[in-house]
Parts: sequence; structure tokens; C-alpha cells
Amino acid sequence: MPIYEYECMACDKITSSLILKPEEEALVCCEHCGENGIKRIISRCTAHKTESQRLNNFNTQGHADEGLNGDPRNVGLWAKKRTKELGVDLGSTLDESIDRARSGKVLD
Ligand SMILES: [Zn+2]
Repeated sequence: MPIYEYECMACDKITSSLILKPEEEALVCCEHCGENGIKRIISRCTAHKTESQRLNNFNTQGHADEGLNGDPRNVGLWAKKRTKELGVDLGSTLDESIDRARSGKVLD
């Protein structure tokens, strides 16, 4: 189901609306000021990355918090990349432990 975004021509604010049928688009008004002078804009999108892409982009040289992208679950990725950079091989048990921790199974 598409959710479109519209920019209000009067107040410049963005309104999001679920459009199930093309004729519903004509009924969309600005949710901030009520004006119907709006235009559809191109929404921002998110690209999903593979784990190897995320590892390649991970900064392990700065402070540890900087490379976590605000998500503490990334500490496992940070540990994987850092051990690889240091040439430390902790075997498959590290990967298994990290994967279990990231999925929450370590608490089971
Ligand atoms: Zn408006």
C-alpha cells in the first residue's frame, strides 16, 4: 500500500497519506493547515545493506560509540571487524556468540 508524501504550497510542511485508490489523492489536504494546495514529492527511501557492506563501512578507528550508529546491537559487528583488523582469529564461536546475542537468544 503506497504512502505518498505531499508538500503544502501554503505552509511548506509535509503530509503523508495512504492512497489506496487514485481518486483518493484528490481528497488529500495538508494535515497542518488544512489547505488542499499540495503537491506530491519524492519520498526519501532507505537502502538495506548486507552485513559485509555494513562491516566495510564500519569505523573502528575512532571512539567505539562513533561506529555503532546509535544502535548498541552493532557492538557485535564492531567486534567482528576489529578482531579481523587485528588479525585475531577467535574461531567460529565469536560469530556464533555475536549472532546469538544480536538475535536475543543469548538471554535464553
Ligand atoms: Zn499546510
